[in-house]
Formats: sequence, C-alpha cells, structure tokens
Amino acid sequence: MTMRILNGLATLLLLLIYSFSACAYSWQDYKDAIARQDWESCVEVLNNLSGEIDEKARKKALSYCLNQLGVQNLRSGRVEEAVSNLYDAYEEYPSPVIELNLLSAMAKAGYWQQVLNRFLGRENEFGNSEKLVVYYIAMAYFQLGEYSACQEYLSNWIGKYPDERFKMLLAEAAGRAGDVTTAATYGDERWKRAKKVEQNYGEDYYGVFRFKFPPKFSLSSEAKRWAQKVLQEAYYEFGGWLDVYPPQVEVVLYAGSDFSKASRGIVPDWSGGFFDGRIRIPLWYLSRGQGKNELRRVLRHEYMHVLVYLKSSGRAPTWIHEALAQLAEPKELTSARIKLAKLLLKKLLKDGYLKKGFGALSGVFKTSNARLAAAAYSASLLLGRYLKDNWGDYVFVQMLEEYAKGKSDNEVLKNVIYKDAEEFTEEILSVF
Ligand SMILES: [Zn+2]
Repeated sequence: MTMRILNGLATLLLLLIYSFSACAYSWQDYKDAIARQDWESCVEVLNNLSGEIDEKARKKALSYCLNQLGVQNLRSGRVEEAVSNLYDAYEEYPSPVIELNLLSAMAKAGYWQQVLNRFLGRENEFGNSEKLVVYYIAMAYFQLGEYSACQEYLSNWIGKYPDERFKMLLAEAAGRAGDVTTAATYGDERWKRAKKVEQNYGEDYYGVFRFKFPPKFSLSSEAKRWAQKVLQEAYYEFGGWLDVYPPQVEVVLYAGSDFSKASRGIVPDWSGGFFDGRIRIPLWYLSRGQGKNELRRVLRHEYMHVLVYLKSSGRAPTWIHEALAQLAEPKELTSARIKLAKLLLKKLLKDGYLKKGFGALSGVFKTSNARLAAAAYSASLLLGRYLKDNWGDYVFVQMLEEYAKGKSDNEVLKNVIYKDAEEFTEEILSVF
C-alpha cells in the first residue's frame, strides 16, 4: 500500500515537473521552430507559451504551423494526421487556403461523406478554386456509389467547366447510373459501344439493383428473376460481412453475341462476366446444364467487386479484389488450385517480386495467357482463404479501410496482420 502511494506521489511529481518545463516556452522558441521549419515543435511551443500573450496572434501563428504540419503529413502519406492537423488549423484561425488543404487531405484519406457534408453548396466561397471544389464534390458522390446524384450534380456544372476531366467523370457516372445515352455523349468508345448494344434493352428495378436485359430473348425473364434473387441475398450476406450497402448498382444481362460486342477490348475472350462499374453478365450460362448455379457464382463474384470497390474508394489492388470475389462465389480451394498458386507465389518470392507487396501478383491478372491467369486467381484465392481462416472475416474490413486511405500493400498488411508480403507468403508456403 505504502509503495503504491509513494509511486503515485513520484508520478505526480514527475507530471508537475513535466508540465512546468512544458510551459516554459517563449516567442523566441516559436521563432526558432519556424526557422528550422520544425512544425511539430512549433505547435508544441504555441500550445504552451508562457508570459504575456496576445491571444489572437498566438492563434494565428498556431493555425499557420498546424497548416504547415498538415501539408507536410499529407505529402508523406500520413493522411489521417493531416486531416486532423488541418481541421485544428481551421478551428484556430479560419481561412479558405486551409480549408482547401483540408479538402484535398479528406479526399486523399477517402473521407468522402465528410467532403459532401462540409463543402456541398459552398462552392462559390472559394473564388478561383471553385472548380477544384466542384470536382472533389463530384468525386465524393462517385466514390460513395451515388452515381445518379453525381450525374445530376455535374450536369449543373459542365456548362461552366466543360473540360475533359469533368466530361469523363460525368460519362462514367451517367453510364453507371444506367444512362448510356448521356455516357456516350461525354465519354469514350466504351460508352458509345454500350449505347449501341443496349439501346433496345429493357429496364427493371429491384431494390438497389437496376437491371438491363435483352429484348426478345427467351431466357430473359427467367434469368432476371434468378439474378434478382441471388443479388438480393448477396446484398444482405456480404453487406453484413463487409459493412457496405451500395446505394445503386447497375446490372446488364447480355444476349450472347451482345456480350462479346460490348466487352471486346475490355476483358479477354474467355471471361464469363465482369465489373467495370456495372455488373455485366452474358446469359449463355442458362443454356447449359449447371447454368443456374454458374450464373449464381458469377453474380456473387461480380457483386463482391462492387463492394470491394466502394469500401476501398476504388483503391483495392486486383489481388485482394479477386481474393474476396472468389471467396464470395464461393470457390473451392482444391489441391490443383493450391499447387498452381504455390508455383506462382514461389516464383514471385524467389525472383524478389514481392518486396514491395503483391503488386506483381496483381499485374499477372492482366495476362492474356489463360493458364497464367488461372495461377493468379488461385494464388489470390489461397491468400484470401488463409487470411479468412487465420484472422477471421473482419480482417478484410480493416484491410479495405486501410486501402481506402491510400496505403500500399505492405503498409496495409503490416498494419493489419503485422507481416509484409514476403513474410506472409513464406508463412503460407510453409503451411500448404
Ligand atoms: Zn473478378
């Protein structure tokens, strides 16, 4: 008991000494910190000035240093710290310059809802930077998956700011909202082709899903009913898993030849469906024996891409996209797949391609070689399976949130599972 009181007293004494020394800063210390461009101590000094203090001058100086610190953190990728510094800087002494820095920090950190809450409707407060604010607001709608709202918002500004960046974003948002006519007006060849193929397609809403389907196609209505059922299930099942519920999702069901016309140059020939902002699926599955089950797998796979995209603000790399999409199907990790996965991972590890993360693995998916692609899918599945079995479902939520902040593979892995890509791969290769 006595020891505890003594310990307590010692701590109190230390605290007193510490707070005394922390208070002993002067304006000269502030000037020294500025001269060294040491923004962190500058903030520390200004928070603990002693003697006669002009409060307004102190706040202004503190705001300046916090702004500098925020910009420095932003440049070095510490985006959350940057947001917090800049927010404080604005609170101490508001200015549009600080708020614009705060805006770009929020965008970099993937805080899109906050961007909307804070900046929507205030565009004209930023003078020459109005255009930048408009762009970030449009991006916020887009990244949140609010494609119709993004389209509507940009339509109001495109007359004033008709540059390429705005047009591309408007086209992409309109297309994802199902308006391929507007998309084709502002967008590239991809949307012009989509318009041509889909112009006579029927439309149907089901919850957040909007379906497009070919006219005069015997399997259309059966496929549509099945797709609605599968996707509605996936909406709740995966929503609960990753904690993301998209506000609107466009699903296009293609008659066979339409699919190849619409997807040419986007995905390889052997592809059985894909996600490029919209879920796009050929209906030839239904004419085969296992058709319904296969269609179910493909829909779950592609819908998972929607969620991974939204949860990571579009920043998740291909390997984690495909890992989750395959777990969602669910695809079985057969011994043949394990073998194939190990071959590829061993090779990438041995040749030093995993030093900075799984970028090289993500790169392999771009191949047109079907066997190599199969190895990449298997490797992703193996990584995903191992993550899920050893760290649980929630590990993916943490990882995707880290990716959303712009973190690299190795930063994400180290923050979440305390291993980098090489260590993680070595562990897997030793287990399987
Ligand atoms: Zn996929």
